[in-house]
Amino acid sequence: MADHYDVIIIGTGAGGGTLAHRLAPSGKKLLVLERGGYLPREPENWDSKEVFGKERYVTTDQWIDKNGERFRPHAQYYVGGNTKFYGAILFRLRERDFEEVRHYGGISPAWPIGYADMEPYYAEAERLYLVHGEAGEDHTEPWRAAPFPYPAVSHEPRIQQLHDDFVKTGHHPFHLPVGVDLNESDPEAGRCVRCDRFDGFPCLTDGKADAHVLCIRPALEHDNVTLETHAKVVRLETGGSGRSVSRVVVDRRGVEDAYTADLVVVSCGAAESPALLLRSADDRHPNGLANSSDAVGRNYMAHINSGVIAISQTPNDTKFQKTLGVNDYYWGAPDSELPLGHIQMLGKSDRNILRAGAPWFAPGVALDYMAKHALDFWLTTEDLPYPDNRITVDRQGTIHLSKTFHNEEPHRRLLAKLKGLLGHLGASERMIPRWSVLDQRIPLAGIAHQCGTVRFGHDPRSSVLDVNCKAHDLDNLYVVDTSFFPSSSAVNPALTAMANALRVGDHLLERLGARVAAEEVAAR
Ligand SMILES: Cc1cc2nc3c(=O)[nH]c(=O)nc-3n(C[C@H](O)[C@H](O)[C@H](O)COP(=O)(O)OP(=O)(O)OC[C@H]3O[C@@H](n4cnc5c(N)ncnc54)[C@H](O)[C@@H]3O)c2cc1C
Ligand code: SF4
Repeated sequence: MADHYDVIIIGTGAGGGTLAHRLAPSGKKLLVLERGGYLPREPENWDSKEVFGKERYVTTDQWIDKNGERFRPHAQYYVGGNTKFYGAILFRLRERDFEEVRHYGGISPAWPIGYADMEPYYAEAERLYLVHGEAGEDHTEPWRAAPFPYPAVSHEPRIQQLHDDFVKTGHHPFHLPVGVDLNESDPEAGRCVRCDRFDGFPCLTDGKADAHVLCIRPALEHDNVTLETHAKVVRLETGGSGRSVSRVVVDRRGVEDAYTADLVVVSCGAAESPALLLRSADDRHPNGLANSSDAVGRNYMAHINSGVIAISQTPNDTKFQKTLGVNDYYWGAPDSELPLGHIQMLGKSDRNILRAGAPWFAPGVALDYMAKHALDFWLTTEDLPYPDNRITVDRQGTIHLSKTFHNEEPHRRLLAKLKGLLGHLGASERMIPRWSVLDQRIPLAGIAHQCGTVRFGHDPRSSVLDVNCKAHDLDNLYVVDTSFFPSSSAVNPALTAMANALRVGDHLLERLGARVAAEEVAAR
């Protein structure tokens, strides 16, 4: 059979792209299917009016919210997935994030594996994704067997000042762990030119550590790996006993095609993956594939996030602003026994970004003044898994996202903490929310940190996947995007998806009886 493969991977983002990189040297016949194409390299990549104002690269798909209203999810379908646009802040979960934790809004459940199981894979993912950082500064950081593979990216003067002001107020600011091809002692040696287009923009110089540049591109150097772009998987079919996926059905610009493989790995992102499983319902799986637990699509989480613009009294000329984080409120505060969340810098805003975030205010001149003086913060509070927060599909296959925010109290407290500090940080005590947390419509479309909808666990009655991320119900189906998370923590999710893909990759190599050349293993 010409179109039979050892493994088919669906999706090329943090999960799928990293897995393809892991399996490529095995010599096994690997097919990678991606619904998008290559992101065009064009000047508009770095044009904030195009990227933020006109949402040039955002899908035109429409989803439906719990009130039946259509909205355009902030999803981007290209080779590399959302890592083409991400801020590349690549955190490990904290050790306690793998355990059960009590929050204002309920319980964050334990993972079926512990931090120690993930540590070697985190280390490997950090090397693969060029993570720069400084161990020991962040007091919530979990133990690590080795230092960060690359030195921390230095603060520019205004951010160094901010760091010093945080220290004066008794905080412990730290260098954010960031995945970037930057060598500050030898600028010729890296592709990053340290510009102000990092967060939300694709990188024109390939300097950002994304899954396309660092995983898919090198994977394709292996003759056994094939990538099909513009190949949207619309259905998985089961044969015989119904215990395995027998056909992967693809829509290629309106033409249907199908492939087969011994193993099938879904990695379409935490909304598209459950949607694909639900659309694949058949006589043997009337509630959708892998869904005997009824957990597919449930427990949707996306963090409770706010972008906050603080107007600094001195101009902020920073270009690369994503260098500083604060975790002093991660597990609580003097007036809170329960966790509040995490604070980090956003990419530097300009007038177009401000206009896109806050279209209701200010003529151009005020936006220019604000952008020049803005300190841009990103606040994250843990979102909790609630079964009624869920992805479903209707008869037309359209995605419905039903979401109610529950853990808002700690987020309000976190915002108040930052607001209370602004005067001490050389900024106006008035701040401007870039996305109001209380406005449900805008955050719902902001699906960047989505996870949890195909959770892994020991119990097939309450989880979809086993500890190897194989579907409990099927013998040859795996899921490796952020869907597998049982809880969301309050740090950015991508490194955990990458590390887990490497972990699952080792399981698949063993299952395939595949051998990877010694020099490939040594290079890890
Ligand atoms: C602006 C922005 C900033 C972010 N910043 C950070 C950050 O600083 N740190 C961090 O950790 N995370 C960040 N994130 C989140 C991070 O990008 C995601 O957590 C990560 O990319 C998720 O990986 P994934 O594999 O689950 O899904 P994705 O990366 O979304 O990959 C899914 C892939 O599947 C493809 N696909 C979907 N459906 C189909 C189908 N039916 N058939 C075939 N292919 C399909 C998609 O095109 C895509 O390539 C950010 C995201 C955004 C948008
Ligand atoms: S800061 Fe570096 S990696 Fe980021 S967009 Fe600019 S050149 Fe690319």
